[in-house]
Amino acid sequence: MHIRDIFAADHTTVSFEFFPPKTAADAEALYENIAQLEALQPSFVSVTYGAGGSTRELTHDLVIRLKQTTSLDPIPHLTCVCHNEAEIQEILENYAQAGVSNTLALGGDPPNGMPNYNRKSDAYQHAVDLVRFIQGFSGHPDSRGFGIGVAGFPEGHPGTPNRLEEMDHLKAKVDAGADYICTQLFFDNRDFYDFRERCELAGIRVPIIAGIMPVTSLKGMKRMAQLALGARFPASLLRALDRASDDAEAVKHVGVHWATQQCLDLLDHNVRGIHFYTLNKSDATRQIYQTLGLRDSSKLRKSASNHH
Ligand SMILES: Cc1cc2nc3c(=O)[nH]c(=O)nc-3n(C[C@H](O)[C@H](O)[C@H](O)COP(=O)(O)OP(=O)(O)OC[C@H]3O[C@@H](n4cnc5c(N)ncnc54)[C@H](O)[C@@H]3O)c2cc1C
Repeated sequence: MHIRDIFAADHTTVSFEFFPPKTAADAEALYENIAQLEALQPSFVSVTYGAGGSTRELTHDLVIRLKQTTSLDPIPHLTCVCHNEAEIQEILENYAQAGVSNTLALGGDPPNGMPNYNRKSDAYQHAVDLVRFIQGFSGHPDSRGFGIGVAGFPEGHPGTPNRLEEMDHLKAKVDAGADYICTQLFFDNRDFYDFRERCELAGIRVPIIAGIMPVTSLKGMKRMAQLALGARFPASLLRALDRASDDAEAVKHVGVHWATQQCLDLLDHNVRGIHFYTLNKSDATRQIYQTLGLRDSSKLRKSASNHH
């Protein structure tokens, strides 16, 4: 479904993010977890694109499989890094033919092991250029073309230390045709609320959905800190994790509890959507639902009050 129709139908959207599995065993585990998460009836799910376009086929395969064998509505991520225009065109044609309605347009991480990769040979330098190209794509059966999402960074993107300039770049993506913003993960909701207000001040009117990633292990947290450069881990969370640190289950309890509190507070503050970075696992997300007293997403998606 076009993302504008999803936002029109759902009071609060709920979405789950997956990355394409690399081995047959990983794939099997993922499909089991997807079956568990499908029961939660999210508004949509999204599938990442490996750094430097490294999972081009795998992303496509997972998206098509989700489309054909589940009730889930997959949104493929697409990045500028390592692609020329003909490649992007072909990827979009394939998704359009498969009935995929939306895509998340990203700058993209540099290829693994090449932190200084020279972007000069890529067709698009910034996500805004990709948004423009997708917006101009004419091969989609929906007359509106693809619905388009873009990334936002509540705590700032490390590439642009000037936060005013950064907001101009975000606004440019929305002006170029982005329909919604999905945020980088954050652990302190105040960062999200302030980001939302700054977007409003900048004249950004599209829905902003909040990226949530529960800490499920100390190793995972370190990896996360590296992947989501700039993400701040509040002292209170670190203290709680430290108290639990010699017990893997306890660490998970702390991380899931923290994320649940974040969700509760976001819902109280009329968040437009919550996006769970699942890391291809289902248990943390399911535990959050359980603690929120939710059997599935229906009560979040269809609330009595209306957004303006
Ligand atoms: C929700 C989400 C999902 C993600 N999924 C993936 C994924 O699947 N695959 C992947 O590889 N990465 C993914 N990433 C990571 C993302 O690609 C990187 O963080 C990337 O560095 C920034 O992406 P962007 O789309 O914001 O890029 P851009 O909008 O291009 O911004 C990148 C940097 O360039 C600056 N900038 C933008 N426009 C200009 C301009 N005109 N002039 C000068 N500077 C400019 C921005 O301020 C920012 O600092 C994801 C991130 C998020 C938040």
